[in-house]
Amino acid sequence: MTAKPHAPAADELELKGVGVSPGAATGPVFLLASEDETVVEREIGAADVPRELQRFTEALSATREQIREVQLRVKETLGAESAKIFEAHLLVLEDRGFLDEVTRAIATTRRNIEAVVRDVAARYAQSLAELNDDYLRERAVDVRDIGRRLLRNLTGHSGRTLANLESPCIVVAHDLAPSETAGLNKHKVLAFVTDLGSPTSHTAIMARALGIPAVVGMHDVSLRLAAGDPVLADGSQGLLYLRPTQQRLARYARRDQARRTIQSRLAVLHDQPAMTRDGYGLILSGNIGLPGDVDAVLANGATGVGLFRTEYLYLNKLPDEDEQTAVYAEVARRVAPAAVIIRTMDIGGDKFLSHLKMPQQVNPFMGWRAIRFCLAQPDIFKTQLRAILRASVRGNVKIMYPMVSHVREVVAANQLLAEAQAELAQRGVPFDPDIEVGVMIEVPSAALTADLIAPHVKFFSLGTNDLVQYTLAVDRVNELVAGLYEPTNPAIIRLIQHTVAVGHEHGLWVGVCGEMGGNPLLAPLLIGLGLDEFSVNPPAVPLVKDVIRSVRFAQAEELAQAALRSGSAGEIVEACRRLCGQTAPEILEILD
Ligand code: PEP
Ligand code: MG
Repeated sequence: MTAKPHAPAADELELKGVGVSPGAATGPVFLLASEDETVVEREIGAADVPRELQRFTEALSATREQIREVQLRVKETLGAESAKIFEAHLLVLEDRGFLDEVTRAIATTRRNIEAVVRDVAARYAQSLAELNDDYLRERAVDVRDIGRRLLRNLTGHSGRTLANLESPCIVVAHDLAPSETAGLNKHKVLAFVTDLGSPTSHTAIMARALGIPAVVGMHDVSLRLAAGDPVLADGSQGLLYLRPTQQRLARYARRDQARRTIQSRLAVLHDQPAMTRDGYGLILSGNIGLPGDVDAVLANGATGVGLFRTEYLYLNKLPDEDEQTAVYAEVARRVAPAAVIIRTMDIGGDKFLSHLKMPQQVNPFMGWRAIRFCLAQPDIFKTQLRAILRASVRGNVKIMYPMVSHVREVVAANQLLAEAQAELAQRGVPFDPDIEVGVMIEVPSAALTADLIAPHVKFFSLGTNDLVQYTLAVDRVNELVAGLYEPTNPAIIRLIQHTVAVGHEHGLWVGVCGEMGGNPLLAPLLIGLGLDEFSVNPPAVPLVKDVIRSVRFAQAEELAQAALRSGSAGEIVEACRRLCGQTAPEILEILD
């Protein structure tokens, strides 16, 4: 999605992106810079040249060591062939052309080594990129990568930090990693805006969980804005206004007020059940990433946790069995008697953890992720399973495996679960022997073989974020194809319907825990398709509950039947919108 500038008012500039977390905020821009932008340029004297060259030599050798280390890790995990790509990186560090140019530039331009490396690497990469030779063109990427690594070693830090924000601001970045979003200070970050990203990237999901408005997929916004620029970010419409007018600010303030009024009205639903007008009851739970998110689950009136994304516990280190047990037990205790569905770690995809020795992968969402990683690392996996089992005596705990694509993965995971149970029994540690196990249905092959998987589990939960990505072959974090990412595509509706039907035939309950479930507009459609449970971002609970309570089951069923006959995602959304306009018009108002 390209940020298209047009100027509705004299000095105001409107930029368009993708709104991924609702709400609006206004404030000054804080530009989260990348390594090469954080370089401070200094003039140096002739006497300083040898010292700067010495720093360069040291940075070269530190970089060489780091690359060798990565290469070794890749060799251990993926084999010698894969590790060979790092040879090209090592060659850049010995490339005479590159090294001579740095040495020459430092003597002639008399600037500090960071500034020289930044400029020489950029120039050198650019000239390689322009050559008419595939091999040399590819080297341009290596040179850029090495340039960044050298800068990181020269400046001694990654250059990126959101930890020490002094005053409230709108964070603007080229991209944010889920780990950076997870660490955001809600009181200082009013909104965030990124060049890359899409609605179901984990960065966007975290923003929604934190209740921070966010606009992503803005192409080159981080280059267009300067630190301190006054902006208004609208995460509902996917808009960013640079130098917003007084009228614009006043209009947004009024809208904000209306939103708050509806939300406070919805607060009365807190203890009401998620039930249609004619008495069809559903479970409406909350999704969490960190144990503290339980506050939002309870505050918004959700029934327990339908998805605990445990991988966030692994962001900085590998937590041991006791640490994990304490976290799971605390969540179980807080939501009891309602359930907490603990999803075993879904590492990989856009949740890359360098300390787990995971290799960089060209296509990480299709790669060594989630259950694939866990089955290959049984010690790490069994530690988590034992911790979940130990917590199971403290509340209503269920286990869920992510990214299952084949029944044999479920069988293998259950086998490791049985081993974990036997190990605990041998240690005399209590656990719930009847703990329920379910799988996420988020890969088309799992949906299509749901009948083969069903005998091994007690429930299915549709992970629509991935199901859409894998079914439609649309990368969920690529803003260039965000327009093709359609949760209501007929292929998805059919897969959901099939999964629910097969699940029910086998006596399983079927839920949805992808972002699709948190879109209030789509709730009647999902009810009509037969879902028994919704697990959504906690802030979305009151809206979804209101829509559920405003519709009759027969209306939902009719909508689902029409959707199953429909040929287009847009038509299905329109039908959902029409029904919502009839049953809950005030919700439609704040969604628009
Ligand atoms: C999903 O894929 O829909 C899901 C809930 O899992 P995640 O977003 O963590 O991949
Ligand atoms: Mg998923």
